[in-house]
Amino acid sequence: MLVTLIFGGNQGDRKALLDEAIKEMSTIGKIEIRSSLYETAPWGFESENPFYNQIVVYNTELTPEEVLDKCQATEKQLGRVRTGTQFTSRTMDIDILFCDSQIINTPRLTVPHPRMAQRNFVLCPLNEIMPDFIHPVLGKKISELLLESPDTLKTEIIEAC
Ligand code: ATP
Ligand code: CA
Ligand code: CA
Repeated sequence: MLVTLIFGGNQGDRKALLDEAIKEMSTIGKIEIRSSLYETAPWGFESENPFYNQIVVYNTELTPEEVLDKCQATEKQLGRVRTGTQFTSRTMDIDILFCDSQIINTPRLTVPHPRMAQRNFVLCPLNEIMPDFIHPVLGKKISELLLESPDTLKTEIIEAC
């Protein structure tokens, strides 16, 4: 299965934490594609600290739930403290965007990630690596979703891949 993950954090050494998280997640399988590194404004809350975001596609034999377990263990390992509030500063957040073209709705997991079409920090790096991929629920290409995005927050490439 090709699993598309987005990594993000706005606390600590953002670049080092991102590199460490991407490396730690490569225990699930080989890296197939990696987007550039983006700096993005916090979405859904106010903060002085912009995020670093990067998207990586891995080729894995694990199930989607097993991938989520590994994402959450890696967040914890990199110092993420869960406060109960949803949109807050954090050292590392790893979300599953796609698992091939599967549609998953379980108590723990919604795939494709339900809020991605409202988020330029997801759509911009996705559009860089897979503009023609069709979102299995919305039935549109990533490039179309980006054009239609209601989000006005800034995203900027700070290190090209
Ligand atoms: P958002 O999901 O809006 O980006 P968040 O990443 O800050 O918010 P978290 O607190 O990290 O939210 O995660 C809350 C829960 O979301 C997790 O415990 C996990 O079970 C669930 N979840 C559902 N779908 C996904 C997915 N596609 N990727 C990661 N977590 C998911
Ligand atoms: Ca998230
Ligand atoms: Ca998350």
